[in-house]
Amino acid sequence: MNNNHKDVFGAAATIVAYDEPHIAGAVVPPIFQNSLFTFSSFEEMAETYAGQKTRPVYSRGLNPTVRAFEEKVAALEGCDDALGFASGMAAISSAVLSVVRPGDRIVAVEHLYPDAFRFFEMVLRDLDITVDYVDGRDHAAVERAMPGARVLYLESPTSWMFHTHDLSALAAIARRHGAVSMIDNSWASPVFQNPARLGCDVVIHSASKYLGGHSDVVAGIVAGSSDFIARLRTHILPYLGGKLSAFEAWLLLRGLRTLPARMREHQRSALMIAQKLADHPETVALHHPGLAGPLPDGLNGTSGLFSFEFSPRINIPVFCNALRIFKIGVSWGGHESLVVPAQVTRVQTGGPNSALRFGVPEQLVRLHIGLENPDDQWSDLKQAIEASLR
Ligand SMILES: *Cc1c(COP(=O)(O)O)cnc(C)c1O
Repeated sequence: MNNNHKDVFGAAATIVAYDEPHIAGAVVPPIFQNSLFTFSSFEEMAETYAGQKTRPVYSRGLNPTVRAFEEKVAALEGCDDALGFASGMAAISSAVLSVVRPGDRIVAVEHLYPDAFRFFEMVLRDLDITVDYVDGRDHAAVERAMPGARVLYLESPTSWMFHTHDLSALAAIARRHGAVSMIDNSWASPVFQNPARLGCDVVIHSASKYLGGHSDVVAGIVAGSSDFIARLRTHILPYLGGKLSAFEAWLLLRGLRTLPARMREHQRSALMIAQKLADHPETVALHHPGLAGPLPDGLNGTSGLFSFEFSPRINIPVFCNALRIFKIGVSWGGHESLVVPAQVTRVQTGGPNSALRFGVPEQLVRLHIGLENPDDQWSDLKQAIEASLR
């Protein structure tokens, strides 16, 4: 093998640092498990520090394994560039903090991912940045809230209630008001929704969910224009320091290889289970975008996460304890099926608006439909429903 670091990183003054086939033909990209990268000469170090050359220096800034993951997600989302983070929340907080200043206002859709909501209410509020929440399905309400806002923060479908939004229309409203539109696209994954192609400026993922796909990674990524990502890379990431690790990037590269196949399977099984629950006499409401009429333009499929409400005849603790295939636990996006009862998470605090945000129904249950046999998944749910009838 005749690969010294110059061959690997190339000489061009571009941030594209890594090209898989050039590493001895390895079909799986190597893990660059190192903190620093040495220079071949004084001159090379000087050129790099003068900005004439871009190459890895220290893994808090640029690491080739991380870079390979970033390039793939940028391509999948149809964005110029992307930047990895240590978690979905590091991605969300870094993207938002790169734009807002004290005194600014954000408009966000209701039923955000609860920790994004807590970041807004518990961190940004103390920095004198306020957030107004609107129903993203009500374009007139969004329009009314926008004047003066710096950011329109979106999630579609939303957490827990799975409301879908017309992203082209919302992105256009943000643009008209000179605001940056950002969307958490974790639920749909790039396989089913590419918000940047619909006009959204910034696309964020919790890579801990479908991108990783095996419940063994916590990571996040932000995709957007070259300018936005360059600013995030140079002004925010080095100082907040929430970098993605090479090993986790390697697991994510592996996850991406099966992402489309996994998403098809999650979609198929979840639609089957959701339909059976919708038809069940103890279900009083079902929140799954695929069973709520036509999908909005730009949402080209549905994933494995949805919720539903049981009649008061079902004892929720007994139902959860009776499940065998479905495990009780938060997060989602991996192989395993999971259940989260809203009764438990509703009591978490989230600042002054928490009652409003967590106003999800008492009998609501969230399911993640994993990759097990869907007939087995349904048998498990059916026996647990029978066991929990009062
Ligand atoms: C889990 C999740 C996040 C946060 O991601 P972490 O990787 O856990 O920090 C953000 N948004 C949504 C919709 C999520 O489900």
